[in-house]
Amino acid sequence: MIHNLNTITRRPTSANPLLSATKQSLNSIFSRRITMHSSSNAARASQIVHHVPGSGSPDETGRIADQTFTRYSTTSDRKGKGVAIVWFRNDLRILDNEVLFKAWVSSEVVLPVYCIDPRLFGATHFFGFPKTGALRAQFLTECLADLKTNLMKRGLNLLIQRGKPEQILPSLAKTYGAHTVYVQKETCSEEINVERRVSQNLQKEFVVSTKLELIWGCTMYHVDDLPFDCTSLPDVYTQFRKSVESKSVVRRCIRVPPSLGPSPNVEDWGCVPETSSLGVEPIKVVKGMAFAGGESAALSRVHEYFWKKDLIRTYKVTRNGMLGSDYSTKFSPWLASGSLSPRFIYEEVKRYEKQREANDSTYWVLFELIWRDYFRFLSIKQGNSLFHAGGPRKVQTNWSQNRALFDAWKDGRTGYPLIDANMKELSSTGFMSNRGRQIVCSFLVRDMGIDWRMGAEWFETCLLDYDPCSNYGNWTYGAGVGNDPREDRYFSIPKQAQNYDPEGEYVAYWLPQLRALPKEKRHNPGMMLYIKTIVPLKFGNTKPTSNRTRDDRWKTNTGR
Ligand code: FAD
Repeated sequence: MIHNLNTITRRPTSANPLLSATKQSLNSIFSRRITMHSSSNAARASQIVHHVPGSGSPDETGRIADQTFTRYSTTSDRKGKGVAIVWFRNDLRILDNEVLFKAWVSSEVVLPVYCIDPRLFGATHFFGFPKTGALRAQFLTECLADLKTNLMKRGLNLLIQRGKPEQILPSLAKTYGAHTVYVQKETCSEEINVERRVSQNLQKEFVVSTKLELIWGCTMYHVDDLPFDCTSLPDVYTQFRKSVESKSVVRRCIRVPPSLGPSPNVEDWGCVPETSSLGVEPIKVVKGMAFAGGESAALSRVHEYFWKKDLIRTYKVTRNGMLGSDYSTKFSPWLASGSLSPRFIYEEVKRYEKQREANDSTYWVLFELIWRDYFRFLSIKQGNSLFHAGGPRKVQTNWSQNRALFDAWKDGRTGYPLIDANMKELSSTGFMSNRGRQIVCSFLVRDMGIDWRMGAEWFETCLLDYDPCSNYGNWTYGAGVGNDPREDRYFSIPKQAQNYDPEGEYVAYWLPQLRALPKEKRHNPGMMLYIKTIVPLKFGNTKPTSNRTRDDRWKTNTGR
């Protein structure tokens, strides 16, 4: 049962003159190459691309995925009739996919479909940035290629068609006489509106209608197992967490049989699109983390993080890092595309705790996944207020939309190395650490006074792990318009630099011109050695004593 979903349109489509300008600026950032000091080892090291997962060859990735699939396959009875369609959206996986399982059980033949919806490659709602940046588009194509391969190994295939789901699916349902279209339920208005249109058009096409069946599948705790209705979700995370931990259980992963055929007769299954054909200029990661899309890569990363490198053992102490691939799980891009199930991670944590060690760190991965669940359920409670300037609390603020200031932030030209390095990492790789996200959000909103929605939309463009609930949920928190009562979330840059990049290694990695400086100067190089700071800090550049309590208060109250 899905509770009280708010379906008011939040983003009317409109041609936005800023779009083409922004596309050009994106391309110029993305194609920029960083000049290195050729002789220094550190500089050479800073050119290394960290592949995520890093576990060797495609063969190894495939082997780990196959072993995991084998552990999670089962024999099941299939008593269904006719044809069922699986409409893949943000659940691009086989393991623990209830949509796929229900379609298989209820039919004799399953037709898996992915629609390349042109709206995903349009513009963001208010500020007209590209809705899907090149790196996420590339990641998506890799997810589709992997899903197609894995379905083929099970006697199926993936039909890939370009167009709106509300046009494609009813037509396919008619051609194949499907009794049901199964799909994972979404919670935000754009996605819900598409569901509604598909459902309406399915009924129009048929005398006896094809059903659209919406299945919950994106969280660790199932929506039906919460101890409260989503409309009365606690406003404070800790209350939510304690409540679900004590009163709900995480459901076991869904297992599917090794063979899911027979496949329907389809003349043309369609190809996985080239990134360039999606209207984005493809770019290559030349530095920092390069993520591989797809369920096989996701399973390989879980294996690497838990079993091969034992990194989960120390997660709680390393998770606030910013440099390299091992300080945190990096599961988020696969979670957002649905190539990885949070319940699978839960089961792996429990297996690790049983076989190796249970400690604060192993628990903390689940603690963070509960944050992810929380933001998902909040999106049901908050509806479109999540996307409004005043947020769920309807806070009145005179935000600035100064384009020059915003562009300096987005392009990494603020004069504050910690901000600039993080923003360059984002545009070059599609990823930024959680610590970095909190710092750049605070700077944009508190120090620059810029409308938080500009920042949120820029994240929407760039992040590989973009998901409306986590992104807008975290931004509303950071901007002080979220539902929690703690309003003043100021992150002091000098203090953050001192705590999380004391040697200046992170900033020197992304801003190689700082590497020649003594370590203590890298965060505060001055305009002669770097660039002029674009705005003064709200609480001063060097003595963050008045804000120390603010940073610490967030840490205490949220466990971060
Ligand atoms: P880990 O530290 O390894 O955490 C494990 C998992 O827990 C993550 O993969 C993620 O699924 C979940 N998680 C951790 N922290 C959070 C959090 N604060 N909120 C929700 N889930 C969390 N996360 C997204 O997945 N998509 C977004 O669009 C997104 N936008 C953000 C915007 C801002 C301004 C901020 C401050 C945070 C945002 N986050 C978002 C949350 C968080 O930064 C990322 O989930 C995390 O950095 C991903 O790296 P990881 O997988 O290594 O995380």
